[in-house]
Amino acid sequence: MKILEKTMQNVIKRNPSEPEFHQAVREVLESLEVVAERHPEYVEAGIFERIVEPERQIMFRVPWIDDNGNVQVNRGFRVQFNSAIGPYKGGLRFHPSVYLGIIKFLGFEQIFKNSLTGLPIGGGKGGSDFDPKGKSDREIMAFCQSFMTELSKHIGEDTDVPAGDIGVGGREIGYLFGQYKRLKNNFTGVLTGKGLTWGGSLVRKEATGYGLCYFVDEMIKAKGKSFKGATVVISGSGNVAIYAAEKVMQLGGKVVALSDSNGYIHHACGIDLDAVKQIKEVDRKRIKEYTNYHVDSIYTEGAGVYNIKCDIFLPCATQNEVDEKAAKTLVANGCYAVGEGANMPCTPEAIKVFQDNGVLFAPGKAANAGGVATSALEMCQNSMRYSWTFEEVDEKLKNIMKGIYKASSEAAKAYGLDDNLVAGANIAGFLKVAEAMYAQGIAY
Ligand code: GLU
Repeated sequence: MKILEKTMQNVIKRNPSEPEFHQAVREVLESLEVVAERHPEYVEAGIFERIVEPERQIMFRVPWIDDNGNVQVNRGFRVQFNSAIGPYKGGLRFHPSVYLGIIKFLGFEQIFKNSLTGLPIGGGKGGSDFDPKGKSDREIMAFCQSFMTELSKHIGEDTDVPAGDIGVGGREIGYLFGQYKRLKNNFTGVLTGKGLTWGGSLVRKEATGYGLCYFVDEMIKAKGKSFKGATVVISGSGNVAIYAAEKVMQLGGKVVALSDSNGYIHHACGIDLDAVKQIKEVDRKRIKEYTNYHVDSIYTEGAGVYNIKCDIFLPCATQNEVDEKAAKTLVANGCYAVGEGANMPCTPEAIKVFQDNGVLFAPGKAANAGGVATSALEMCQNSMRYSWTFEEVDEKLKNIMKGIYKASSEAAKAYGLDDNLVAGANIAGFLKVAEAMYAQGIAY
């Protein structure tokens, strides 16, 4: 029997009905078998059993009043997963699909992602089943204030520093920050992704998408390829997708498709990003509107953006959006590289299809770490009460992404796993956290 199989079975038993959490843990533990063999001291110190159990899980009621004067009740979460190498750090997700299992899967992945950045940040995640879609600004503000009224008791600049994720952008961070400051009479860097006039960092908004492209660029460069002249399909049209598209274009690639949860647009001559920014960032509308800007673009209802032929595919929407069938279609259409901008967008079966067919595969934990890395740079600037220029932050981000690629590919090689960046990223991310946990001992 494999060394970590019992740990996995315990996770399933102790966390029933949380399939996304099981999926995230299984992938990591499978990668870590070779580490457990080489490091019996980590097995003995219970590092594996400890790392799959959150240090603290907070669940709370979030009551708020809608525009019709009715009381609404949502559920809030903050999972403080691991603080071995720094304060808990990770985003807040507002989406109706949110429940404890989703926050735990995201918080668990965040431990390794944050470790890979090389910066001193632990892993955490939070959010709510609140659906921001179609809500007025006042309703969003009321919800955010109520959410922060409870969350403020559990976070702090040296304890836990939340940020955005799906459904939480600049507007929400503003309302959350305002409420925190009101309650605490304290202006600190307790959240990242702040506005530029009140402690935010340049490049934070662009960072996840840009960082994804820097990572994928490194990965394909190692095989003699580049974005220049490549046809790229991106799923999603939120913050990650938009700035991934922007960087692909800057690097000489052509983005021909984007999507949202309703459908996808195909614009064969290349997406007009100004139109997309207007639709999504200003008007907060659906991607379907794009056809009003470009009559030669095609909108298709439903999933299936991966049916469009491309060289490089960047899934930037949400978990498990790419299944085995989608992966087979991408392979059949000649796609040679996939980079995960979202968290866990490819199912294990899809990843296997890519790996079996020699598709270069960049796992989210490594490839989308640019967002949280730039959040850590925001924390750094807040501590110094200083700010760097766009070029300075962008250069740091680029170097961090290169470093993550190097650490992941070297870890894979060191453990005899060739080009397997999934395993490499898990191992490199784990080792640093494990060493810290080991050094800090167990309180008993
Ligand atoms: N939500 C992003 C992530 O998945 C960013 C988190 C942060 O900046 O703290 O990594």
